[in-house]
Amino acid sequence: MTQPRSIEMVEVGPRDGLQNEAVLISTAHKVELIRRAIAAGSRRIEVASFVNPKRVPQMADAEAVVAGLGAPEGVTRIGLVLNERGAERALAAGLDQLGAVAIASDPFGIRNQGQDSAQSIDVAERIVAMARAAGRSAQVTIATSFGCPFAGEVDPAHVVRMAARLAEAGPVEVALADTIGVAVPAQVSALVRAIAGAIAPLPVRVHFHNTRGTGVANVWAAVEAGASVVDASIGGLGGCPFAPGAAGNVASEDVAYMLARSGVETGLDLNRLIETAQWLGQVMDKVMPSMLAKAGPFPKQADQ
Ligand code: ZN
Repeated sequence: MTQPRSIEMVEVGPRDGLQNEAVLISTAHKVELIRRAIAAGSRRIEVASFVNPKRVPQMADAEAVVAGLGAPEGVTRIGLVLNERGAERALAAGLDQLGAVAIASDPFGIRNQGQDSAQSIDVAERIVAMARAAGRSAQVTIATSFGCPFAGEVDPAHVVRMAARLAEAGPVEVALADTIGVAVPAQVSALVRAIAGAIAPLPVRVHFHNTRGTGVANVWAAVEAGASVVDASIGGLGGCPFAPGAAGNVASEDVAYMLARSGVETGLDLNRLIETAQWLGQVMDKVMPSMLAKAGPFPKQADQ
C-alpha cells in the first residue's frame, strides 16, 4: 500500500452531475457552477457534453455554456463526446480537452451510444486523434469497467486489453468508470493495479458513482492502488440517463475531505465546495447527496 502526496481531481458536476437531472438548469447557472468550481480550486472541469440534444436535453446548450464561460486561465475545459460529430462541435467551441468514452460491455454500449465495445474503442481512438490533430488533448474513459446493468460482471482482462490499446492512441490518461456504482474496494484495487501496469507511465483516472454506498471507499482503494486522478461532482449530483438506477457521482467535497484528512492534497477549498453544493441545492430545489454539505467539515476552520 502506498499513499501519494497529492491527487488531481476533475470536477464533473457541470456535465455528469447535471445530465441526469430532469429539471433543466439555465445556461447562466451552469456557467456560475463552473466559475464557483474554479474559485474552489478546480483546474480540470468537464464543462459539457456534445451529444444529441434530443437524447440529453440538459446538454443542448453546450456551446452557449462554453461561450459564457470563456477561457479562464490555468483551467482545462473538457468536453465529453461520443462520436466524431460531437468531437467536431467540441473542437469548434474551443475546448481544451476532449473526453472520449469506450465501453467495456456490448449491451450497454449499444444502448448508451449505439456502439458495441469494439466499435466504441475505434471511435475513441479516432476522437483522440482528432483532438491531437487540432493541437488539443484528450482523455479516455472506459465505461462499465466494474459491471454492466445488462450483462452483469465484466471480464477484467477485457478492460485491461482495452486500456492498453487506448493508451497507444495518446490520451493524457485512461480512466476506469463505475458507471452504475457496483464496484467494491477489493475489485477496485485489483483492476487499478492491473491497468496501471498495462498503461504506465500514463496515469490512471477513476470515476465512481455512489449508488451502493461504496463510492468514497472505492476512491481510497484506487488511490492506494496507484490512481492519480479522481473524478467527482460538487454536491454528489450525477447519474446516467441510460444506466438504470445510477445514482450520483462521489461528491467532490466528500472526496476532498477524505483525502485532506488522510494527508493527500487536492488543491481544493473544502468550505467553498460545501457552499457551492448548498447553492446548487437551492438552484435545483433538492437535497444534495453530499455528506459534507450536510455535516460540515472537521475540524471547523477558524473564522478569518
Ligand atoms: Zn458517471
